[in-house]
Amino acid sequence: MIRFDDVTKTYMRGQRPAVENLDIEFARGEFVFLVGASGSGKSTLMRMVLKEVTPTRGTVYVAGKDLSRIPSWKVPSLRRDIGMVFQDFRLLPSKTAYQNIEFALAVIGTPRKVVRRLVPEMLEMVGLEDKGKRLPHELSGGEQQRVAIARAYVNRPSILLADEPTGNLDPATAEGILDLLAEINERGTTVVMATHDQAAVDRMQRRVVEMVGGLVVRDEAGGTYETATPVSVISGHLPDDSAHRDELPLEDEALAGGPERPAAAQTSAPRSPESSSPEAAGSTETPAEDVLEEDLIDEREAQQTREEDLFVEDEAHAEDVQGDPR
Ligand code: ADP
Ligand code: MG
Repeated sequence: MIRFDDVTKTYMRGQRPAVENLDIEFARGEFVFLVGASGSGKSTLMRMVLKEVTPTRGTVYVAGKDLSRIPSWKVPSLRRDIGMVFQDFRLLPSKTAYQNIEFALAVIGTPRKVVRRLVPEMLEMVGLEDKGKRLPHELSGGEQQRVAIARAYVNRPSILLADEPTGNLDPATAEGILDLLAEINERGTTVVMATHDQAAVDRMQRRVVEMVGGLVVRDEAGGTYETATPVSVISGHLPDDSAHRDELPLEDEALAGGPERPAAAQTSAPRSPESSSPEAAGSTETPAEDVLEEDLIDEREAQQTREEDLFVEDEAHAEDVQGDPR
């Protein structure tokens, strides 16, 4: 379903890679946890699946297709088959829960009749059948994330990427969100979830892929969050805000780790992502509101592209039939 073939991503020349020599495959229908400290490369990995980030070296395949060979006009159709859920929900703030889900269908030209059937079905699936008229700010965090999941799933994507979806939620609420993702996975969607949620990982007993400094240091079927790598490297308990991170003597801790530290940690500790990433300086992280605004613009652009897409889709189809032996 998703395959990385010796993939390296370096954002800026001279900087260490965000993801390095990644060779990994996620099979259809799998549920995979991606764990690792902030800056270890989890989001970069996911964004490469969406073709939002282009690998510096290597090849990413999604559903058997080499993403570097997908022309830009076909990218919207790739993304249509991949649901995405974020830590900060990213709902459209002026649209109701119903309209947020409806929007995902409208932009791809779903007939009204189908929309009227699917949206209530999704609201019910996520347990919000009586809250469709609420605006995001009238919903709790957990409820907002349920709407975001409904929106991501309403097109029945074959892949759902969830980037720390429970990061802003209390443990009980997080459990409900995880159950929902598990249900979506049981219905056949491949789920890849980046998380710091130890309880979630331990409870689910699914495949765990652990990253340190852009490298996969563990890939375990039915794994737990618990790892041989020291807590100073896996900042599972650390809040994901750079202001805090600056106070933590991460490098000292890592260096004082003692002789029994595993090889993976030893190779990565001297270039700890916390200390060397521009994120740690606290200046490169985009404030949430900016992200949201950019997102709205993205959404509008996406809508335009998709509308244009609808026009070319027929032609494309004809072209596919003729030229693309599948
Ligand atoms: P994670 O999701 O595990 O926190 P990321 O993939 O966001 O990790 O980041 C991996 C590394 O790449 C970090 O050092 C981060 O600072 C860097 N990075 C991420 N996005 C960008 C970007 N757009 N430009 C430059 N560097 C980036
Ligand atoms: Mg991330």
